[in-house]
Amino acid sequence: MTRIAFVGLGNMGAGMAARQAAAGHEVLAFDLSQAAMDRAAAAGCIPAASVAEAVKGADTVITMLPAGPHVRAVYGEEVLPHASKSALLIDCSTIDMDSARAVGDLARTRGFKFADAPVSGGIMAAEAGTLAFMVGCEEVDYPAFEAVLQPMARAVFHAGGLGSGQAAKICNNMLLGISMIGVCEAFALAEKLGLDPERFYEIGSKSSGQCWSLSTYCPWPGPVETAPSNRDYEGGFLTALMLKDLKLAQEAAAKAGATTPLGGQAEALYALFDGLGYGQKDFSAMLQMFRGRLDTLQAPGA
Ligand code: NAD
Repeated sequence: MTRIAFVGLGNMGAGMAARQAAAGHEVLAFDLSQAAMDRAAAAGCIPAASVAEAVKGADTVITMLPAGPHVRAVYGEEVLPHASKSALLIDCSTIDMDSARAVGDLARTRGFKFADAPVSGGIMAAEAGTLAFMVGCEEVDYPAFEAVLQPMARAVFHAGGLGSGQAAKICNNMLLGISMIGVCEAFALAEKLGLDPERFYEIGSKSSGQCWSLSTYCPWPGPVETAPSNRDYEGGFLTALMLKDLKLAQEAAAKAGATTPLGGQAEALYALFDGLGYGQKDFSAMLQMFRGRLDTLQAPGA
C-alpha cells in the first residue's frame, strides 16, 4: 500500500483522491474547505489538519489546485519543507509554464523528483478514473510517475521534460477552443442558409470538416446524445475554464514568440461570452451567441 498525500479536493481533486483510496492506497487529504474535507473523508480518505501533516511520511504527493500562485505557495511553503526527500511530487493543476518550471526546479534543487501532470477530462472523468495525463518530467523518472497516476487514468503520456505537460495541455486546449468556435460558426451559417442543422451534422461529421468538436461534442442539440448541448450546456467543460486555458496559451505564446492569431481570437470570444455571464455554461454554448439566440440558454445565475 502506498501512502499518498492529496492536496486540493475541489471539483477535480475530490474524484481523483477517491480513485486513489479505492485503489487501496492510504490517502491523507487536505483542502482549505471543510466541505471538501468532509467529502474526501466520506470517499475513504483520511483528513489531515494541514498540508504539512498530509505530506509527512508520504510516498507520493499529488496537488490539484486552482492556479500558479497556489502551486508556488503550497510547494514552497508547505510541501518541500515537510515532505520526505524520497517522495514523488506530482502537480496535476493547469498552471502557467513559468510556475511549473520554477516549482519543479526548486523541488529538484532540494533533491525531489517532480512532475507537472495536467489532465484532459472533466469532473466526470475524474470521478470515473478516466482522465488523460500529460506528464513533464525527466525520462528516467517517468515510469514511477506513470504507475502512481494509473488509478486515475485512461491514458498517461510522457510529454517531455519539466513544463512539457503544461505545454501539451495548453496547445491541445487552444486547438479545442478554436475548433469548437469553427464548428459553432458553421452551424450558425448552415441555419442562416436554410440548411437543416441535423443534416449538416450528418454531412460534416463524415466530410473533411470532421473533428472532435463536431462529431463527439456537437454544440447543436440533438445529434450527439451525450453532448452538453442536450442538457442546456450544463455539466461539461466550463467556458470560464476554457478561457483560463486560452489565456495561459496566449501568455506562453507571447513569451515564446509564437504566432497564434486564432488562439488570440478564441480567447477574445470566450472572454466576451464569459463577460455576458455564461462562464458557468459548457464552452460549446458559444453556438447560441453566434445564432443570436442567447435567450435559449437559462439566464445567468438563474
Ligand atoms: P476547484 O476550485 O474546484 O478546486 C481547487 C481546490 O483547491 C479548492 O477546493 C480549494 O479550496 C483548494 N485550495 C486552494 N488553495 C489551497 C491550499 N493552499 N491548500 C489546500 N487546498 C487549497 O478547481 P477544480 O475544478 O478542481 O480544478 C483544479 C485544477 O484542475 C485547475 O488548475 C483547473 O484548471 C484544472 N482542471 C479543471 C477541470 C474541470 O473540469 N474542473 C478540467 C481539467 C483541468
